[in-house]
Amino acid sequence: MSNKFDVIVVGAGPAGYVAAIRCAQLGFNTACVDDWQDKEGKPSLGGTCLNVGCIPSKALLDSSEKVEQANHEFASHGISTGKISVDIEKMIARKDDIVSNLTKGIGGLFKANKITSLHGRGKLIANKQIEVTNDKGTEVYSADNIILAVGSEPIAIPVAEVDNNLIVDNAGALDINAVPKKLGVIGAGVIGLELGSVWNRLGSQVTILEAIDTFLPTVDKQLAREAQRTFTKTQGLDIKLGARVTGSKTSKKSVKVSYADKDGDHTESFDKLIVAVGRRPKTNDIADPALGLKLDERGRIDVDDSCRTSIDGVWAVGDAVKGPMLAHKGSEEGVAVAEMIAGQHAHINHDTVPWVIYTHPEIAWVGITEEQAKEQGINYKTGFFPFAANGRSLAMNEKGGRVKMIADADTDRILGVHILGPSASELISEAVLAMEYSASTEDIARTIHGHPTLSEAMHEAALSVDGRALHKVN
Ligand code: NAD
Repeated sequence: MSNKFDVIVVGAGPAGYVAAIRCAQLGFNTACVDDWQDKEGKPSLGGTCLNVGCIPSKALLDSSEKVEQANHEFASHGISTGKISVDIEKMIARKDDIVSNLTKGIGGLFKANKITSLHGRGKLIANKQIEVTNDKGTEVYSADNIILAVGSEPIAIPVAEVDNNLIVDNAGALDINAVPKKLGVIGAGVIGLELGSVWNRLGSQVTILEAIDTFLPTVDKQLAREAQRTFTKTQGLDIKLGARVTGSKTSKKSVKVSYADKDGDHTESFDKLIVAVGRRPKTNDIADPALGLKLDERGRIDVDDSCRTSIDGVWAVGDAVKGPMLAHKGSEEGVAVAEMIAGQHAHINHDTVPWVIYTHPEIAWVGITEEQAKEQGINYKTGFFPFAANGRSLAMNEKGGRVKMIADADTDRILGVHILGPSASELISEAVLAMEYSASTEDIARTIHGHPTLSEAMHEAALSVDGRALHKVN
């Protein structure tokens, strides 16, 4: 095998592996370097998303939601089960199977696309070369173009150091083998809420300690307020806002956490503690310092709007560069870079990246919030539709949440769509497509939506912007 490629991608997460596939499709001789190993020490493609992120968490969210339904909802359908029991080890094994299938699937895609998979840690050295180090030693490869897709890692905090026993990060939280009676979570962000929900549904008493005093500050205020009420009042998550963790002490079976809020200092003991206080780019030692690869003030690889780094022929995509740390944003950048290397006109529309939080109900949004519209002095109008007035939603026993639309008051162009409700993660795609086409709310209002579907709530929200929703009083 020659050590010379057209393109070498470093990192096989959703940004890197997708970039590699697109490069191969475009006819480039492509290699992808990745050092991830599974629990048994075997190479595993797919990065954080497939191994310890999006996919395994969704597997557990789905399993735990079924438990929740059996415990609390089946009865209203006239179904009685008696006391249900849960085999956590089996649940975790199902999750591992899904991960294994998908990560192997990427291996299959690499093979089918004739991509060379190189296992080891990649480091950029002079003349667009990549040094790949694994337990067999170090080998040097070169390419005309390099794509750095090195991802991110959990932020560690000295007040609660992960010991992978009592104190775990997102990866450890997916492998807890018995339901902790009392579970503490630091951080009420995306990971804290999703994993907190999983263990809450499985029977843990969950307390989430969040340093800032606003709940989900990036979510539309109205929706965040309703979500907070549902998670705390209906589901029983104890979310303490304005609670800054000041220390932790582990004993044999529990961890005592101290935190401070407006009422003073407190301590609370937990059987497990999940630290989910954000992620940072994994850019440590990815390039020979002599090359001067520029990083920004947050340690991310500095790129222009086309993902070009400060070094000619070296590109960077995904969590390691500016923008939200979302798998689909990284994949989109990966595709765009491959096409730009091929001399095509690719573009990345960062204004239409959807966000999803997989709680129940789900929260999804695209574009700006009402608060941002106000801050930016935009003359805007809004419309909304509650799922409580949607037939399909009621048939599913889903009575909470709403679709909210924000549009320019002069042009009617959609500026933002915010959904709290069932299948929000799927429904948001219509809004993304509409915004991608610069659609107006009138465009959605004139689009026929199937009946009975949840998507009718999108239709009605668009109608409501113009004061003509049909199934609610405007
Ligand atoms: P996050 O930034 O969403 O939330 C971290 C939270 O921790 C913040 O609210 C922050 O105020 C709080 N915090 C920080 N330090 C604290 C302290 N000392 N004490 C108490 N609270 C503290 O980060 P995350 O939830 O860890 O997720 C990391 C990244 O992964 C995010 O960028 C997210 O976009 C991505 N992610 C996305 C999804 C999804 O798309 N559904 C799922 C999981 C993760």
